[in-house]
Amino acid sequence: MIDTEGTAPAGDPGHVPFRLLIVGPPGAGKGTQAARLAEALRIPAISTGDIFRANVGAKTELGVLAQSYMDRGEYVPDSVTNDMVRSRLAEADAQGGFLLDGYPRTLDQVHALDDMLSATGDALDAVLMLDVDFDAVIGRLVERGRELGRSDDTEETIRRRIEVYAEQTAPLVALFEERGLLRRVDGMASIDEVTAALLAALEQR
Ligand code: ADP
Repeated sequence: MIDTEGTAPAGDPGHVPFRLLIVGPPGAGKGTQAARLAEALRIPAISTGDIFRANVGAKTELGVLAQSYMDRGEYVPDSVTNDMVRSRLAEADAQGGFLLDGYPRTLDQVHALDDMLSATGDALDAVLMLDVDFDAVIGRLVERGRELGRSDDTEETIRRRIEVYAEQTAPLVALFEERGLLRRVDGMASIDEVTAALLAALEQR
């Protein structure tokens, strides 16, 4: 059973999957859904994009490096991203599970995550995929750029992000499918409907 009332302890054995990924193209609504699922499942939502943006804002060394890639719509180099995720997953709050948003996005990152998990005898429980229509996501991203002023939500960068996603990240979906981890959900429904569908998808084994 999935606990939406917040009464069951996180990491309860034999119940819901707790080590999760959420995948989908830029603008699919991963961040919005990740926050909702994390609350319902009482696990941290870990977004590599948010961690990079926090570092850009604080002008850390990592932020300065990441910004040059992000503003062009390119991926930050794998070695940098993998090290960042490895240290985040080692923190105490991630020991009872986590929901990773925006990672892994390359085959090298998939292998790095496999190694991080197998080092502690853990494995992924499910990969949630938001299925969306590409034309609709471009519209959403342009809108978000206007509202939030995200510097990588300009039309040119959005196009490049979608291209990079199609080249490097979309092919990973087949890999998760082969591993029997993939759960596809229609990401074009309303926010509440998508959350409900994601939670329902986690109940199916
Ligand atoms: P979106 O999914 O809309 O592109 P994110 O906030 O997830 O937004 O990511 C923004 C940017 O951060 C990406 O375009 C990329 O430059 C960088 N980034 C985030 N996650 C990764 C990752 N796993 N590997 C490399 N770069 C990443």
